[in-house]
Amino acid sequence: MERFRIKNVFSDGIAGHKITVCGWVRTKRESKGIAFIALNDGSTQDILQLVIPGETPAFQKLPHCNTGAAIKATGTIKDSPGKSQKIELEVSEIEVFGDADSATYPLQKKGHTLEFLREIGHLRPRTNTYGAVFRIRNIIADAVHEFFQGRGFIWIHTPIITSSDCEGAGDLFTVTSLDFDKLPVKDEGGIDFSRDFFGRRAFLTVSGQLEAEFLAMSLGDVYTFGPTFRAENSNTSRHLSEFWMIEPEIVFADLNDDIRLAEDFIHILCLKVLEKGESEIAFLEKFYKNTSINELKVLAEKPFVRISYTEAIKELEKAGKQFEFPVKWGLDLQSEHERYLTERVFKGPVVVTDYPEKIKPFYMRLNEDEKTVAAMDVLVPKTGEIIGGSQREERIGVLEDRMRQIGIPGENMEWYLDLRRYGSAPHAGFGLGFERFVQYITGMPNIRDVIPCPRAPQTIKL
Ligand code: ATP
Ligand code: MN
Repeated sequence: MERFRIKNVFSDGIAGHKITVCGWVRTKRESKGIAFIALNDGSTQDILQLVIPGETPAFQKLPHCNTGAAIKATGTIKDSPGKSQKIELEVSEIEVFGDADSATYPLQKKGHTLEFLREIGHLRPRTNTYGAVFRIRNIIADAVHEFFQGRGFIWIHTPIITSSDCEGAGDLFTVTSLDFDKLPVKDEGGIDFSRDFFGRRAFLTVSGQLEAEFLAMSLGDVYTFGPTFRAENSNTSRHLSEFWMIEPEIVFADLNDDIRLAEDFIHILCLKVLEKGESEIAFLEKFYKNTSINELKVLAEKPFVRISYTEAIKELEKAGKQFEFPVKWGLDLQSEHERYLTERVFKGPVVVTDYPEKIKPFYMRLNEDEKTVAAMDVLVPKTGEIIGGSQREERIGVLEDRMRQIGIPGENMEWYLDLRRYGSAPHAGFGLGFERFVQYITGMPNIRDVIPCPRAPQTIKL
């Protein structure tokens, strides 16, 4: 079907041309023998106004062009006398693909709450809000690849099903084909996973990092961009059970290189959103006020403040504020602490480095003080942590000691240790939660509003 995307109708300057567009009717009104339809096809925030003169055959189709109907319209692009749009389509023909029953169509002209729209996940992308969010999501996804490909990184695909349960990033979902009515039991009790599909227990991955490490230790700088899963029962506005993560892994590189990469990455992603998604951000700014073009312009350039965990604890102690969770050297930073640091103390992105070894995973490189590790978290206002990263422990002796202390069974990790036995090299990486970032950029109050089909505890409707 020959059709113009509405986005291109606005960008291509085609006044006077005869074209065909397709889309869904947002509104329809009639006055003095002339009808107007507001049409959107999802390609842009903008609505194309269709003008249907009374004498055309198209006019006869109007009873079947209710809000929500899918139609095709052919006509000529004209300058619009109206105030709210520059151009409009003067229509001669309309074909109705599917009308929508206006008595039951859930999307009415009046605004709906985000909670209500979450209940109709299959229709919410037709609204201005979700159209904007999902287009921004696409812009960022595209910019991720452009950023890494432009720097010579190799995109690698790490597995979704894994046998590794030692990553320490969170609780895992088990993947099984066992028959729940006849579960094989071991003599000493417990499920006998040796009789499961893979011959041992398998899980959905929480991170592609460990595998990215062996690929980086052969291909050089690499990145993953794929789904990850966490079975924690965290019913918050910033956690999903299934989310996408971007994980670069760089070699012949240390924590400073890692931080610099993260900073450049965030800057460039913001620039791309401003370049390609300005009208979407402008819309979200106007209606929700949790994001703004100016804020993004600042973020696209602002250098990240760097402080150590130890300094961060001092700042929080100085705050003289009663936090819900205790502030004490050795305890992890909670979201309220992270937000205090970014929103109140530094008023912008902050990189916190060198966390206590005890609260971070085994693979992070032990610092000289032997109390902290070369970790870095990027914290931003409103959201808190968006990036977690580290330099990896490349010294086999130190790594084995830590694994022993933490009680990580060595037998399945021989391959990981091999990387330190044969041609070990300093390397580092980080994980950016894709939805966390999209949420931050769009200012959506709930992370469930930036992914088409959110999975969260007790939530898997669509
Ligand atoms: P948090 O403390 O926020 O729960 P984390 O420290 O467990 O996160 P990491 O294991 O460091 O997270 O994962 C790297 C990044 O992935 C985080 O910085 C965050 O952006 C994102 N992320 C982690 N867990 C989730 C989740 N459940 N839903 C969405 N994004 C997440
Ligand atoms: Mn983290």
